[in-house]
Amino acid sequence: MKAIQAYRFALDLTPLQERVVLAHAGAARVAYNWGLARVKAVMDQRAAERSYGTPDELLTPALGWNLAALRKAWNAAKSDVAPWWAECSKEAFNTGLDNLARGLKNWSDSRTGKRAGRRVGFPRFKSRRRATPSVRFTTGAIRVGADRKHVVLPRLGRLKTHESTRKLARRLEAGTARILSATVRRDGGRWHVAFCVEVERAERIPTRPQAVVGVDVGITHLAVLSTGEMVPNPRHLDEAAQRMRRLARQMSRRVGPDRRTGLRPSNRWERARQQVARAHARVANLRRDGLHKLTTRLAGEYGTIVVEDLNVAGMLRNRRLARQVADAGFGEIRRQVAYKAERNGGRRIVADRWYPSSKTCSDCGAVKAKLPLRVRTYICDSCGLALDRDLNAARNLAAIAREVTTAGSGPVAGRGADRKTRPGGPVAMKRQPGPAQADKTGTVPPQGGTCRSVARAH
Ligand SMILES: [Zn+2]
Repeated sequence: MKAIQAYRFALDLTPLQERVVLAHAGAARVAYNWGLARVKAVMDQRAAERSYGTPDELLTPALGWNLAALRKAWNAAKSDVAPWWAECSKEAFNTGLDNLARGLKNWSDSRTGKRAGRRVGFPRFKSRRRATPSVRFTTGAIRVGADRKHVVLPRLGRLKTHESTRKLARRLEAGTARILSATVRRDGGRWHVAFCVEVERAERIPTRPQAVVGVDVGITHLAVLSTGEMVPNPRHLDEAAQRMRRLARQMSRRVGPDRRTGLRPSNRWERARQQVARAHARVANLRRDGLHKLTTRLAGEYGTIVVEDLNVAGMLRNRRLARQVADAGFGEIRRQVAYKAERNGGRRIVADRWYPSSKTCSDCGAVKAKLPLRVRTYICDSCGLALDRDLNAARNLAAIAREVTTAGSGPVAGRGADRKTRPGGPVAMKRQPGPAQADKTGTVPPQGGTCRSVARAH
């Protein structure tokens, strides 16, 4: 089984190497900003000509928005725009133009409805101070050193890695991996190289292929499993919050940039800003580690994992929930479970966004009209069940897997199927107790859409 995977290593750059990388990242930004300015100018020009009634065939020719067209335009203009272009690898300019082409495509796809999710804005210019420096190499000498402590990249040469590259080096030596690209970027004050790699993976199956687990992601716990296990929330953000508040105070007392007066930030402000960035990066790293450990364990053990389709973007707009939601990484759990389940030969089921997993009794199926967030224990009015709120939800999620299985034909129902059966709106449906009726076999899950998509590896 072939899969695309990323390997990311921290780098220890020398000051000279850092300057060269920054120069390349700057070159990427120059190409990006140049391309964006060109695209905008042509768009404005054509709009103006149209407003004068110029016929379409006499308009200024439109500039192609794909990478090839942008690259062609750049190569024609680079001697004027960037006479120093030969000092940087052509991959640097390519990075910027590729980013621009993607940004333009995302914008137009979003506008025409080809792209799901939130509206994507028109690409904006990148600033030297605010953009994350990054450069991507797709061709040339990209190697991982035999000593497993270095990587070799075009123009940048031999870069020392902060950690061992053995995981990737072993695969490369065994011939089960092929490097597609390498990206060098700075996040949180630290440089990393990320290799995009095509790997040949052995087929795997979960240790309990028949087992089902429902995962309810929450705020009080990182996750509650239908098995009754409560995975504690790492709460790294809360632990580090005090330190971050102190650093933010420190930063506010120092002289920062002022756009109106053109004031440059002081060196002391810059130092404080870097410390804040490092504190944030640490929190993000700890969080990512906790999530990966949980999702790897789940995908390795259970044949079926059921998660909820939470409206993460909507929750992030609710500012009171936002920080904790972001800390718990709701959307990230769903994403990781998806690819890890597939990689391990399991399947993931996503419950419909409107499925009332919290309001339904996991024992008798009665649905409550209302259940405020502060009520932590579910007490059923019909059968008297009293259960932790999140555990009740997790059990309901696990029950969906059984419905999907019964609704199709046998335990492999829904192989490769992508079901999108949504009820019209936020309606609370009463579920029948027990598995679905036998006469409801077919492709539609019972009760018209408790499951939104079923993905199964082959
Ligand atoms: Zn009940």
